[in-house]
Amino acid sequence: MKDLKNIKLFLLDMDGTIYLDDDVFDGVYDFLNKIKAENKKYIFLTNNSSKSQIDYLNKLKRLNIDVTLDNIFTSGMAMGMYLSKMYKGKSVYLVGTKALQGELEAYNVKIVDDDPDIVLIGFDRELTYEKLEKACKYIDDGKIYLATNTDYVCPIAGGRYIPDCGSICDMIYNATKKRPKFIGKPEPDMINILKEKENLQNDEILMIGDRLYTDIKSANNANVKSCLVLSGETSIDDYNKSDIKADYVFNSVKDMIDLI
Ligand SMILES: [Mg+2]
Repeated sequence: MKDLKNIKLFLLDMDGTIYLDDDVFDGVYDFLNKIKAENKKYIFLTNNSSKSQIDYLNKLKRLNIDVTLDNIFTSGMAMGMYLSKMYKGKSVYLVGTKALQGELEAYNVKIVDDDPDIVLIGFDRELTYEKLEKACKYIDDGKIYLATNTDYVCPIAGGRYIPDCGSICDMIYNATKKRPKFIGKPEPDMINILKEKENLQNDEILMIGDRLYTDIKSANNANVKSCLVLSGETSIDDYNKSDIKADYVFNSVKDMIDLI
């Protein structure tokens, strides 16, 4: 078994990787403490654009996880950075939550109601028909079309799920026949932004997650190291059948502690 001594930055998915709902998995606190003890860094990475960086800070702190704003990166933040870099000064019609709006405004993104340059879809738990109607109109008019994440569903308590950003985009596709550019996993953008920010080489970054088609694929797309944990949605059977392969496979992050 190869060790993980070369890894300087651990990117961590949350649901299914470090906790399920409010239950923190066995070994997570020791795993995070070991990373800190070795003077390495961890960042929690989430596709969920319905909540802000501060919402996640509060949740992780409530679960007694040692975290600051610097350790949390959402697809909403990545979108804010992407917009301020690629489309500085352009106006955005947002189909997203108030939390996402705040996240984007922190990057000086101008949100408007009418005549936008860009239409942006997030995981909108405050969705209305009026928002959909306007978004379709602006997309039909040929405005730049972006979205935070491809996920069709978001898991919730009791083994159930709610429709996520990918499902909203499919509804819009049925009306407009247009698809957006996505930023969240499995696209490499979030990892690439952090790679540049932390000034690290590809083989010094490890993405750890429980979903092959988002977490592991994003790592492969960004050409960094990947680690599948079997504590969430993927079983070893699923992994063996999949053509998406990880550099490492562990039962849970607990099994990684001695290798850091
Ligand atoms: Mg997950």
